[in-house]
Amino acid sequence: MAKKKWWRIIVAMQCKECGKTNYHTSLNKTITQKLELKKYCKQDKKKTTHVSREKLK
Ligand SMILES: [Zn+2]
Repeated sequence: MAKKKWWRIIVAMQCKECGKTNYHTSLNKTITQKLELKKYCKQDKKKTTHVSREKLK
């Protein structure tokens, strides 16, 4: 098995408006700063700012 093992963390993208977690993404561990993305929120039915929240496991 030649699987590359990068140290990756799974982060949850949480909507700033309603606090709902809508997306999950994996990041390189070296990126520690908070990530902010404009994503579509199903709850709000519009594009809102989503912030990354580190998820354990
Ligand atoms: Zn929302």
